[in-house]
Amino acid sequence: MSGGRTYVVTGCASGIGGAAFELLEEEGARVIGVDRRDAEVVADLSTAEGRRQMQVEVERACGGTLDGAVACAGVGGGEGDPATIVRVNYFGALASLAGLRPLLARSPAPRAATVASIALLSGGDPTVFEACVAGDEEAAAAAAPAAGGPGTYGAAKRALARWVRHSAPTAEWAGAHIPLNAVAPGRIETPMSRYIAQSKEILEANRRDYPQPLGDFGKPRDVASLLAWLVSAANGFTTGQVIFVDGGHETFARGADIWQ
Ligand code: NAD
Repeated sequence: MSGGRTYVVTGCASGIGGAAFELLEEEGARVIGVDRRDAEVVADLSTAEGRRQMQVEVERACGGTLDGAVACAGVGGGEGDPATIVRVNYFGALASLAGLRPLLARSPAPRAATVASIALLSGGDPTVFEACVAGDEEAAAAAAPAAGGPGTYGAAKRALARWVRHSAPTAEWAGAHIPLNAVAPGRIETPMSRYIAQSKEILEANRRDYPQPLGDFGKPRDVASLLAWLVSAANGFTTGQVIFVDGGHETFARGADIWQ
């Protein structure tokens, strides 16, 4: 499906990004991995300087043309300080999508995809969300400590999903024939979610608050295979979608008819 194509995958050193990197390579693509460690392009996507460096190094590695960008790098709601969560999960993701768009625009069949989360369904902190929508990174980072990790995480993922839906039909993306989509995973078995499986109490609370009818955890490949299709040439007409890979959580939570 991906043979002969050149992709970038951020967050390639672990979890979902690692699975996407492996799958695309297995399919025969040239994959440029980006991460803060163990990657062809080692860059810190929480900083403006790291993002610029990533863009320069990716351009050099791909020779100026990219067929697909997969923005997976992320920090969990319980990991690190809240400001870093929004810097990586929203502003770092945009740098990996909008920032690499000029390289995508040179491909005959360019595609882009990113990773949101079922956490967007809870909305997250409104101040962090509005600052993201306004493109004001410093305001988002300043609001994050009061919002806390989970509130910041939900806001950043909701803003990312909104940005995908907002941008996809515009001249820059659809007008340049670049499908742009997001996946929204539920609980997936990666280092980020390990703390859930490790505590019976936390697992029970997750089962109660975020039921997943198909099972407690999905596999990284469950998400990676959809990402691989979204950035393949086979995806010629799907754009602006936020596709839940969550064992049925979203359907269960929001109900059957969401098109009022
Ligand atoms: P993970 O921790 O296994 O992988 C995240 C990767 O992002 C790591 O390799 C890490 O080094 C990289 N990263 C973090 N900060 C970075 C930075 N500043 N610069 C560059 N790279 C950085 O986690 P995962 O579960 O594979 O998460 C991948 C994506 O999926 C994230 O965006 C996460 O929010 C999202 N997600 C995960 C789950 C889940 O249950 N695992 C659920 C919903 C959404």
